[in-house]
Amino acid sequence: MNPVAKSPAGLDTPLQYLKGVGPQRARLLERLGLVTVRDALNHFPRDYQDRREFVPFHKLPLGESGVVQGTVFGVAPPRRGSRAPVQVTFRDQTGYFTALWFGRGFLAQVFKRDQRVVLYGKKTLAKDRRVVLESPDFEIVEEDELASIHMGRVVPVYALTEGLFQRPLRSLLHRIVEAHAEEAPDILPDELRRRRGLLPVAAAYRAVHFPEQLDDVEATRRRFAFEDFLVLQVGLTLRRRRQAREHGRPLAPPGALVARLLRALPFMLTPAQERVWSEIRSDLARPVPMNRLLQGDVGSGKTIVAVMALLTAVEAGCQAVLMAPTEILAEQHLRTLRGLVEPLGLSVAWLSAGQRARERQAALEALRSGAAAIGVGTHALIQDAVELQRLGLAVVDEQHRFGVLQRASVRGKGEHPHVLVMTATPIPRTLALTLYGDLDVSVLDQLPPGRTPIRTDWRREPARDKIYEFVRNELRAGRQAYVVCPLVEETEASDLKAATEMAERLQSGPFRDFRVGLIHGRLALEAKDAVMRGFKAREIDLLVATTVIEVGIDVPNASVMLVEHAERFGLAQLHQLRGRVGRGAARSYCVLLANEPMSDDARQRLDAMVRTQDGFRLAEVDLEIRGPGEFFGTRQSGLPEFRTAGLVTHARLLEEARQDAAQLVARDPGLRLPEHRALREALIARWRERLELASIG
Ligand code: ADP
Ligand code: MG
Repeated sequence: MNPVAKSPAGLDTPLQYLKGVGPQRARLLERLGLVTVRDALNHFPRDYQDRREFVPFHKLPLGESGVVQGTVFGVAPPRRGSRAPVQVTFRDQTGYFTALWFGRGFLAQVFKRDQRVVLYGKKTLAKDRRVVLESPDFEIVEEDELASIHMGRVVPVYALTEGLFQRPLRSLLHRIVEAHAEEAPDILPDELRRRRGLLPVAAAYRAVHFPEQLDDVEATRRRFAFEDFLVLQVGLTLRRRRQAREHGRPLAPPGALVARLLRALPFMLTPAQERVWSEIRSDLARPVPMNRLLQGDVGSGKTIVAVMALLTAVEAGCQAVLMAPTEILAEQHLRTLRGLVEPLGLSVAWLSAGQRARERQAALEALRSGAAAIGVGTHALIQDAVELQRLGLAVVDEQHRFGVLQRASVRGKGEHPHVLVMTATPIPRTLALTLYGDLDVSVLDQLPPGRTPIRTDWRREPARDKIYEFVRNELRAGRQAYVVCPLVEETEASDLKAATEMAERLQSGPFRDFRVGLIHGRLALEAKDAVMRGFKAREIDLLVATTVIEVGIDVPNASVMLVEHAERFGLAQLHQLRGRVGRGAARSYCVLLANEPMSDDARQRLDAMVRTQDGFRLAEVDLEIRGPGEFFGTRQSGLPEFRTAGLVTHARLLEEARQDAAQLVARDPGLRLPEHRALREALIARWRERLELASIG
């Protein structure tokens, strides 16, 4: 091997310059995100097939999947225009068998007599009672190719793109692994790697692509999972350290405003609220910016704690802001805040994307001059236009919609304000470590007293009339109800139409004796406000809503939540929706109306909703059903994409990586030691922007 290819630049070699990869194939590879040798090394197999020994077809049990091999004996194309499958007959060690492919007529031209083919599929009973392989994956074995790559071993199966085939990609990766695996720098320092019993990097790359046996794969997964966790945790640890060195304004007033607020409340704080408040209060009093996550299930009373923090900042002579992810939730906060703090003689400025220019000017002016002590709004608040006098505290009610990125931009405003992030979605511990590894965490693990549990059921269409009868009874008893319609299609317009029609149908039919209201995202702010006020004032009995009410709406007299097409909602969303009821003393009900056909996942979600009301438990179920990538929606959450890590399967590793990261950073905060060089480079490449690691590199 030549010395140039051995240099680290070897990993940055564009794939296009490798033998056998021309511009055309390079373009196909690029569609998979593969541009350099490094990218290709990190394109891990999506699956493996054990081709060391093939099961004879007749020994494969009916209904099971397996890898078989055969020689093409005959090809029967379907008659033109018929819907019949392509049928190919194969011969193997012990006899003949048939494979069928539906709707893929072109395959009749692909197979030629005497070709050797590897097939992977399920042995099933065809319509005509013959035992066949139905639509198997297949690979034609070229005799002149290096048999050892594709046959007689465990072979990797890669994700492909149209026009790029399994065999050439596998051959390419084989060459790349052979030539370049040794060049990959080991991000894990030797001592640490040995202590954790993890594979060296070159061996791991070789084994992840071309394992000698299937059992080797798990060891490679662990190694790369740990590596990705470590890089992330080191980044978070560094960021946390940097924040701890920032100078913040200590906010430690006597507490007169908070005392007046508490005296005016019709209730006492729960012990959980007391505990969380004391954590926050002592953070605020320190000369280092607070960076705290307040986790609390729906209805646990986070808002009042946030208001106490806001008042503390104000009493200390600062301004404070409260931000929410959606307009409607921000509006709800505005109403709550005005009700609580205006009696104390403070004024609140309201900022939103949808407001008129003049209103906006006035609000901005009030904040600029300091006339308004508190600002409330959506993202608009963190946009450049806003100038604050002395921003002491930013409270971000993220309700799982914001992510690390947005939090970062809050911190830039003012001089290192204290930051409190509130989340209503209970986050499993492993995810919390990943997403919020740099935050201190407070948990409200107790609901305010006097609430009765919510009874939850899921029902099918035939139960609709009985459900309506039940809802009417609740309304007659003086309670109120929600009916939520899902996003029907991808567009807001059709969403709106469905809700509008539902409201009309209910008003003119089963609920003609009641007042039916409608709220949706397209309504102007004042209109939404009017509907919400009407519902709160009991001028509306039944509120038909799109998912705009998912978060934050608080009407204690509402006792029924009826969710249409519940099978289409995610678990977190259903839990949020259910949290809209059960806020008063009356017994509350959540009815999930589901329609067939329904996926297994949907059924699992509905069952979980009936089984438990514990948000943390539901979050874990959700993580199991959906996997971490979709748990929050990777894009919004800022959740990193890991190569092999599973947040559930590798939870222990994540903990270990966190401990190691802390030790490592304590010993070498600048990552200057030679054994940390590769780690430092990986950190800069992967995380610089997301973690604002301007201080290193
Ligand atoms: P969330 O944590 O979902 O944001 P909220 O802050 O909206 O919950 O509180 C839900 C409801 O509980 C509100 O009506 C609030 O006034 C009420 N609440 C909050 N704390 C208490 C308490 N200690 N005792 C009784 N009710 C409370
Ligand atoms: Mg809330």
